[in-house]
Amino acid sequence: MFLRLLFLASLCLPALAQLPGSWTEPFPPHKIAGNLYYVGSRDLASYLVTSSEGHILINSSLEESVPLIRASIEQLGFKFTDVKVLLISHAHSDHCAGSAEIRKLTGAQYMVMEPDVPAVESGGGLRKSRIKNKADYTQFPPARVNRVLKDGDEVKVGDAAVVAHLTPGHTPGCTTWTMKVDGLNAVIIGSPNVNPGYVLVNNAAYPTIATDYERCFQVLKALPCDLFLGAHGGYYDMAKKHATLKSTTANPFVDAEGYQRYVIEKEKAFRQEWNRQKAAAVR
Ligand SMILES: [Zn+2]
Repeated sequence: MFLRLLFLASLCLPALAQLPGSWTEPFPPHKIAGNLYYVGSRDLASYLVTSSEGHILINSSLEESVPLIRASIEQLGFKFTDVKVLLISHAHSDHCAGSAEIRKLTGAQYMVMEPDVPAVESGGGLRKSRIKNKADYTQFPPARVNRVLKDGDEVKVGDAAVVAHLTPGHTPGCTTWTMKVDGLNAVIIGSPNVNPGYVLVNNAAYPTIATDYERCFQVLKALPCDLFLGAHGGYYDMAKKHATLKSTTANPFVDAEGYQRYVIEKEKAFRQEWNRQKAAAVR
């Protein structure tokens, strides 16, 4: 029996090993500024934008993240069922797999940037062929979309408002969210990353992927940013900044310089990979 369990465990391990522990490790929910709160895990970022008429939740994350997000919202003194609108950074499982469940539990309206809607509503199946290896994060429970968003659209609940910016490449509908809070410009980056296995040259499933990344960086560089935030806590050293919350009166999440540095660094990484693939294609 023990050996059998051991054997079964060994079968499960490769699948488990793909999920970093920081994705499901609880993290103290905290106020970023004004009506903007962090309600995610140590690395999978979820944000709550509150109003007296209900809240906006950005990122449902994994299916197993849903109870954690709920607990974080309640710990801050808000009601999970007051989430009226659900948004995502992009159609990958680490940001949207919990959406079907959150829609069911809260009745929230699910709003998604147009090019990511087919993936969201089909559970990612339509673009399975896009990723060569480790396609897991492109698969998730399908969820119906209530409102299809376009670049520049505003999403409002009461006096809570965020703006959707199309920053494509990582996915065709990858979305960077911005809002004004306490006179500061908050930017929640959707993802500037070129994942392992991404095809930037002659990609039949996503022909405009490389020029989409160029557009993404153009948009990110032009956005005014004081509060540097993103789809993963790791983008902006969330845990490190959070640790200084108690020892400083300055808001540690205000980091305009860090934002610019991050975007430039990511654009450099994209261009290097694009050049590498272009050179390999002509060989
Ligand atoms: Zn992703």
